[in-house]
Amino acid sequence: TDTLPQNMHGMTSEEIVDLTRRLNYGTWRFQKSWNPVHIADAEDCYIIDGAGKRYLDFSSQLMCVNLGHKNPVVVESIAQQARELPYAMPGYATATRAELSKLLLEVLPEGINKFFFTTSGTEANEAAFKIARMYTGKSKIIARYRSYHGSTSGSIAATGDPRRWAMEPGGKGPGVVFGPEVNCYRCPMKHTYPQCGVACADYIEHMIRNESDVAAVLLEPIVGTNGVLVPPDEYFPKLRKICDENGVLMIADEVMTGWGRTGKWFAVEHWGVTPDILVTAKGITSAYVPLGLCATSEKIGDFFLDHYFAHGHTYEAHPMTLAPAVATIHEMQRLNLVDRAAELAPYVESKLRALKEKHRSIGEVRGKGLFWAVDLVKNRETKEPFNTYTDKVSGAPLLVDQIAGKMFADGVAIQAWVSHFVIAPPLIVTKEELDRGIDALDKHLSLAD
Ligand code: PLP
Repeated sequence: TDTLPQNMHGMTSEEIVDLTRRLNYGTWRFQKSWNPVHIADAEDCYIIDGAGKRYLDFSSQLMCVNLGHKNPVVVESIAQQARELPYAMPGYATATRAELSKLLLEVLPEGINKFFFTTSGTEANEAAFKIARMYTGKSKIIARYRSYHGSTSGSIAATGDPRRWAMEPGGKGPGVVFGPEVNCYRCPMKHTYPQCGVACADYIEHMIRNESDVAAVLLEPIVGTNGVLVPPDEYFPKLRKICDENGVLMIADEVMTGWGRTGKWFAVEHWGVTPDILVTAKGITSAYVPLGLCATSEKIGDFFLDHYFAHGHTYEAHPMTLAPAVATIHEMQRLNLVDRAAELAPYVESKLRALKEKHRSIGEVRGKGLFWAVDLVKNRETKEPFNTYTDKVSGAPLLVDQIAGKMFADGVAIQAWVSHFVIAPPLIVTKEELDRGIDALDKHLSLAD
């Protein structure tokens, strides 16, 4: 009927789903059980399926559509760039790259002022590793367990979560060593904060001193997919000092935490710390087009004034990817979305704390801004999760997926990861929409209680 969303290819939902399943890989899953929903349209905080049903996008897809869907200014910027200059190779200067670079100086932490544009977060991390190695002349990267940095060879090798296992044996190297994650709820060192004195940061120093040749420490400021792990306030300042004292660079992977998600433009600002290299993607264009950024300090930038920068991509600084980033920054500033995320945080926190009181299956809720995890446990004393990554790999049904499936049927789309949910709606979300999403979770958590 003419009320259904149309597509320019004139296909039915059945044809779309059939062709998609048969001809494409669905990531991180058994292909046999992949049964994708046809998404035909999207608007503000909603995605819309082929039958016209609307779903509240409670995790901004992959924690990336920070502005909400189909912002007209961003959409128009893409069309305008396509008319003006769809492509020029990265060695040329373009007005769009000049404008975006100028704007980035306004929003990135002070002192970060040299930019390399990629088309994904993982490529931006690859650039960061290469820059760190070229600049320091050293080779090792210290990463942490329970981290995710991307799926290309270097980034997956530096990923401390089990997604790396598919690359093993040998997936870890070369040149990556893993240290302890910062995780006060399930401390890998069995300590309790604050009595621990943030020993997990000290351990990184121990590693630097016992490994030769360390170029950089790679950190998600707030660990994303692995559970929205917020570090204690001392952690980042302490690590900054450790890096400085030991001549090691700090790389902050802000792919998920950047762009207002945590109530600051970038999460490192919560602790007043400036990394040497800041990597980001996702929210930089609200995911309307693929763009990643590896941004460095002036000192690192200056090094390459007279050293060969042996790196680049065909699609580096692609004008079509940069124009929507300019529009995204303008829209975020106009709508004051970073402050909005900070202002809504106490509301979300109080609602989630009340949810925890009500459901014994919730072990912990934690987060910042509009970035929260609801961590499910079989038992609050032991903190044993309902499922593990091994269940996921084996294809066992995950409890969180069952709950997310029921929420989806009720019109709320949420990201579930092994044993927790990630609540990260677009930053334009209203209190009513927050209520609706949390109520849907409330309704179906009885499956876990
Ligand atoms: N780093 C972090 C912290 C991420 O969360 C992700 C993706 O989720 C990546 C890197 C990889 O980014 P991309 O999927 O754009 O390659």
